[in-house]
Order: sequence, then C-alpha cells, then structure tokens
Amino acid sequence: MTQHPPTGLPDKIRHFIDGTFVDSVGGETFDVLDPVSNKTYIRAAAGQKADIDLAVSAAKKAFKSGAWPRLLPRERARIMHRVADIVESRDAQLAELESFDSGLPITQARGQARRAAENFRFFGDLIVAQHDNTFKVPDRQMNYVNRKPIGVAGLITPWNTPFMLESWKLAPALATGNTVVLKPAEFTPLSASLWAEIFREAGIPDGVFNLVNGLGEEAGDALVKHPDVPLISFTGESRTGQIIFGNAAPYLKGLSMELGGKSPAIVFADADLEAALDATVFGVFSLNGERCTAGSRILVQREIYDDFVERYAERAKNVVVGLPSDPATEVGALVHPEHYNKVMSYVELGKSEGRLVAGGGRPEGFPTGNYVAPTVFVDVAPDARIFQEEIFGPVVAITPFDTEEEALELANNTAYGLAAYVWTSQLKRAHNFAQAVEAGMVWLNSNNVRDLRTPFGGVKASGLGHEGGYRSIDFYTDQQAVHITLNESHSPRFGTAK
Ligand code: NAD
Repeated sequence: MTQHPPTGLPDKIRHFIDGTFVDSVGGETFDVLDPVSNKTYIRAAAGQKADIDLAVSAAKKAFKSGAWPRLLPRERARIMHRVADIVESRDAQLAELESFDSGLPITQARGQARRAAENFRFFGDLIVAQHDNTFKVPDRQMNYVNRKPIGVAGLITPWNTPFMLESWKLAPALATGNTVVLKPAEFTPLSASLWAEIFREAGIPDGVFNLVNGLGEEAGDALVKHPDVPLISFTGESRTGQIIFGNAAPYLKGLSMELGGKSPAIVFADADLEAALDATVFGVFSLNGERCTAGSRILVQREIYDDFVERYAERAKNVVVGLPSDPATEVGALVHPEHYNKVMSYVELGKSEGRLVAGGGRPEGFPTGNYVAPTVFVDVAPDARIFQEEIFGPVVAITPFDTEEEALELANNTAYGLAAYVWTSQLKRAHNFAQAVEAGMVWLNSNNVRDLRTPFGGVKASGLGHEGGYRSIDFYTDQQAVHITLNESHSPRFGTAK
C-alpha cells in the first residue's frame, strides 16, 4: 500500500524570511518522511542559529519601522478575514498536504483547515471589539491602559494537526500587531510554507511573518535563546517545555506552554452509555490518538464495567485502519517511525500491565508503514506506566472504580492535568466532580468541542498559562498603565530643608 505525494510540491521545503523563500545560510537540510512508506519524499532546509538570526532581524525591522503594528485594528482585522477566506478556499489542498505529511485520515484533516480559518476570523473580530480600562479618581487622576504589541513572537509548534496548531498562535500574535518567527515541527514541515503564500496574498507586509524550518535542538533552541525575541509560545511535550523554560529563564521571556496530557474520561453507572461509548472511542482513536486532549485513561464504575469493556473492545476492533488518503479511514499511519517505535514500546509494556482486549500490535494487512491497531488494555492498575505516561497513539487504559471519591482520586493521580471528560446524568455530581478534578478543561457529557472564547490550557505538567479568547490577547500584548493628574501634583518636597 502506498500513497502518491501531492502534486505541485517544490523541490525542497525552504525557510521564508523577509518575504523570500530561502535555503539555510550553510545549506543544511533534513529528510522528511512519508509515514506510509517511511521513505524520504522531500528534503527541508534545516535552520541553524544563523538562519534564526536573519529571521529575527527581519521580524524586528518589520516591528520597529513597518506598517503592521501601526495599522488600525479594523485594517488588520480586514487582512485577518482575508487570510481566513484564503485558508477556507484551500481546504482541500491543505487537507491533502496535511494528511500526506502527518498520516492523519483525510476526513479529519479537512476539519483542521476550517478550524484554522476560524482562528483568524475570531481574533480579527476580537481586536476590533477590544476595549481597555480607564479608571477615574474624581478631580484628581485619570488612569488608562495603553495596550501595545510586544515585538517579535517566537512560535514553536508540534506535529499533530500542524497547520491548525500554528493558526492558534499565528492568529492572536499577528492580530495584536506583533511580528513572528514560526518554527514548525520537523516531522511535518510541509503545510507551514502555505502560510507564506496565504499571508502574502492577503496583504501582510514582508518581514511580519517569518518561517524557519529545522530541528528543535537547533532552530528551536536558537529561537528560544535569541535576545530579541521577548515571547515564546510553545506547544509540545512537557519535557521539552521544561528545557525551554530553563533556556528562556536568563532572558526573562514571556512564556506560554501548552504541554502533554493523560486525560481521564470518567463514566458513571448512570451515564448515557451509548453517548459515552461514542465519545470515549472517538476521544482516543481520532487523530490517530495523537491528540493532546485524548481521553486516554477511561475510568468506569464497577456496576457497568464488564458491559462497557465488552462493548468498547468490540468498537475498537471495528475501527477502520487504512491509508490516510482513504475517506473511509478512521485511524491512519502514525507520524514517524521514531514515534511509532515509542507507541509500540508502550503496547508491548501494556501486555504486562493490563489485560489486552483489542489490538496489541500491527493491524492485519499492514506489514509496513507506521500503523498501530487500536489497542485497549483493561484492568490497568493506577501505578502502571500505561496509566501514568502519555503514549500519544491509539492506545487506551481502562480501570474500574467503585465510588465518586475513588474516581476523583484516580482521575487526579497523574503528573498531567490537561482535560477531563465526565459522563453522568446527575447534575450536582457532574459539577462537583468538574470543579474538583485537576484539569485545565472539563467536558461534561460531551466531547472535545471548544468555543474559541474559552480558556485553553492545562495545569500541573500540562502547561503554564492559558490561551484562548482575551487571554491570548493578554499574552501577546503589554498593558501599559498611564496615569495623569487632573489637579496639582502633590509631591512631598524633598531638598527644601535649608
Ligand atoms: P516536542 O516537544 O517533541 O516538539 C514540539 C516542538 O518543539 C517541535 O517544533 C520541536 O522541534 C521543538 N523543540 C524540540 N526541542 C526543542 C528545544 N530544545 N528548544 C526549542 N524547541 C524545541 O513535541 P511533539 O512530539 O512535536 O508533539 C507532541 C506533544 O505535544 C505531546 O506531548 C502533546 O500532548 C503535546 N501537545 C499539546 C497540546 C496542548 O495544547 N496542550 C496540543 C498539541 C500537542
């Protein structure tokens, strides 16, 4: 089984600096693999410190003396909407690139482009509606907030749903008038170059958006350590977040960290079982299980445990694994052989930590490529590594519980705290549980659907700071306080003693 590269690919993936596609200064490149054949289908420029220096300098110039930060909000908003229109019009092309490069099923890749466009519309609207505070002390003082873009924002993104995740950062950073340097994930660099064409067509001036491809330890590291980049917005693994946090510390940079997860889905005996089943199967197997908010630990109340497990295993066995480009496919190929090996090592480990009821290896008929059969382990002990660690693939651990207290303890019993899903028909229990669970986001009797105005982010090892809605505007802007006296200024008179 093979898939053909999309038509019209360039000979190489290049950086985009100051309005021009360029190779690395030193000519370095890296291989980009197609997850179905694991063969190199294109090479990409591997950014080094010298390339980051050029990109930051272009972004700095565009910030200091270019038009972008000085446009009226309405003018920037118009451009943001143009970006959204173009992204939407390229939905099919984007989905094809994304699915080919990352191994995501094509039907799920299509939704990503629409969501990316929505981020641009949303932040375009938000900056026009944006208002800031003025505080008056009658007859004495006026105080107002002068909100300003900060400068060059460094954006570092992961390989799961790459284009959409880039839009989360690009849209608020640009809408608020910053200039940016984007360092996309090295496993999936293909779709990021489209931003350059889309932004140019929409009218974003040269130098405002810069793209440097490359490895995290090289290009990403240089961006984090660049003294002229005051902000880093990072999405990726918790371990990488720790490294970046340390590297940014000497520069006292503004940091936003969206990190890993091991989110629980808690199913009480009084839940609408069919709905819970649909959501928990989708919650861990959609996007190939490569989803930060995947409900990868399912806690099920003892009364319904056996029935749930049986039905869940049945569903998992029936999930359609196939070529990413096939519209019937529900789980495609994992992004890269390195990641495949990591997920497979957890599948092997799981065999000694739980009872395997579905999957457990390569699916039949897929001798090559990064395919993992949807895998279900049940009766998993809370201290098992497959219960504690993020696997980031189509692998789920199911554990029984008896009481609500026990469910809460199990739910909170990991280093992570990104999302939680609660299934119960008792209103009080749903809210009390939601408020007590250690998670940045909770969905009650529902799946992972988020209104863009709400906060997004995790607690504990899942992140630092929240983005989403006005919180993103706050991250990408300074709120300068300006104070004016309306009367005499009353200063104690120093130096008048003689
Ligand atoms: P990763 O941490 O390996 O890489 C993410 C990005 O960081 C890549 O662009 C990489 O090149 C770069 N990077 C790596 N080392 C770096 C360094 N030393 N300095 C600077 N940059 C560096 O993560 P990944 O494997 O690409 O993505 C999967 C992870 O992302 C999972 O843990 C997942 O849960 C998480 N994720 C979180 C969210 C969220 O919103 N919380 C969303 C999506 C993915």
